[in-house]
Amino acid sequence: MAWERNVVIKSKEELEFMREAGRINAKALQAVREAIVPGVTTAALDKIAETVIRDHGANPAFLGYPGPTPYPATINSCVNEEMVHAIPGSRVIKEGDLVSIDCGTVFKGFVADSAFSVGVGEISQEVRMLLQVTEKALELGIEQMRSGNRVGDVSHAIQKHVESYGFHVPREYTGHGVGRRMHEGPQVPNWGLPGRGMVLRPGMTIALEPMVLVGTPYTRVQSDQWTVSSVDQSLTAHTEHTVAVTDGEPMILTLV
Ligand code: MG
Ligand code: MG
Repeated sequence: MAWERNVVIKSKEELEFMREAGRINAKALQAVREAIVPGVTTAALDKIAETVIRDHGANPAFLGYPGPTPYPATINSCVNEEMVHAIPGSRVIKEGDLVSIDCGTVFKGFVADSAFSVGVGEISQEVRMLLQVTEKALELGIEQMRSGNRVGDVSHAIQKHVESYGFHVPREYTGHGVGRRMHEGPQVPNWGLPGRGMVLRPGMTIALEPMVLVGTPYTRVQSDQWTVSSVDQSLTAHTEHTVAVTDGEPMILTLV
């Protein structure tokens, strides 16, 4: 995709629609988070997200998304070594698992995209560290989303933090502009050099999404043609917010 030709600046009114999409999406993710306990299936989590979204007069953004096969669900539900795009199903969540849920909502034609990772019950020190580093990487990336900064400033903040803990960022999957379509420009990698790339301007809306791998930066796609896992089966985490660049502070659109 020609990412850089597909940057769409949003008006104030459009940002309000995106904020509402983000609020509904956040409610869906919150409901899913509360339901993540040992014994629940990922299909049950998917149903919860879909119900919240539809009850608010919105639609799931991922359902039917074009790919090798149209995406069949509302959420991506990744467990442990699964990093992104895992399809919900009969998998049962267990104590000690690391679960990553990604969800998108369309409201009045605008998409919000957000994800979180969480440990289930008693988790290892390694999982706790991975979760902390992933969340902090998102926070540091958002902090750089200011008018006049460049995409590379955002990317570098994420990469630097993750790698300072000996963890890795994948090269094949990135953050992205989002708006009337789930993927617009600019592309925002989780690695990069400060001062490089497109200049950020007010009205840009970007889904910033650090993905972090414990073992190596390398991933592979499973036989279902959707699920992306770490190549060495090591743990991964993923967190995401849709954020607007403004004249002042970055505005997170995907909060309740
Ligand atoms: Mg997402
Ligand atoms: Mg995204």
